[in-house]
Amino acid sequence: MVRARAHTAAIPPFKSGKHDHRRCVAAALGRAAKVCAGKGSRLTALRRRVLELVWRSHRPVRAYDLLATLARERSSAAPPTVYRALDFLQAQGLVHRIESLNAFIGCDRPGEPHAGQFLICRECGRAAEMADGRIEAAIRHGSAAAGFYLEHPTVEAIGLCPECLPAASAAKSRVRATEMPPVSSFLARARPAAKASHG
Ligand SMILES: [Zn+2]
Ligand SMILES: [Zn+2]
Ligand SMILES: [Zn+2]
Repeated sequence: MVRARAHTAAIPPFKSGKHDHRRCVAAALGRAAKVCAGKGSRLTALRRRVLELVWRSHRPVRAYDLLATLARERSSAAPPTVYRALDFLQAQGLVHRIESLNAFIGCDRPGEPHAGQFLICRECGRAAEMADGRIEAAIRHGSAAAGFYLEHPTVEAIGLCPECLPAASAAKSRVRATEMPPVSSFLARARPAAKASHG
């Protein structure tokens, strides 16, 4: 029963909070070397560097931004260079594409077949991946029942991460307070205005 393992216990980066991100990057590069060696595919210096750039943060990154960074490092960097590297990394399961953002994010469990569910913070842009086999199974089941040919069972959920939630909910309650001023404040404003029109 290894297949149906649900990865919901700890979801970095949200649950781990402040952390040493260099460890995430080092671990990702280590896993990539292992995965590629196991599959007999070549993790060239360029592919490795693109993966490292994708892992620069937990925010999904666009191909265009990767290209901008690479172009500063290598004169040969052109859009096809980046797209080919991303295709390779996706095929190895090392990165996922977030369709709604047209961006890429590193996978922390390559080598385990899964369809990710992404929790994307609309404030800071960070995304956490969970891979709950039950969700994927439900989507596959529903697709089959609907006669729908499923291509990507990936789920992209939008919300607020634990770091952004307090500020966002405080801002929301401030908006609510100004949206509906009490009736007395209307009266207070109306009185001087009425006086002014007479003077
Ligand atoms: Zn990290
Ligand atoms: Zn993944
Ligand atoms: Zn956030």
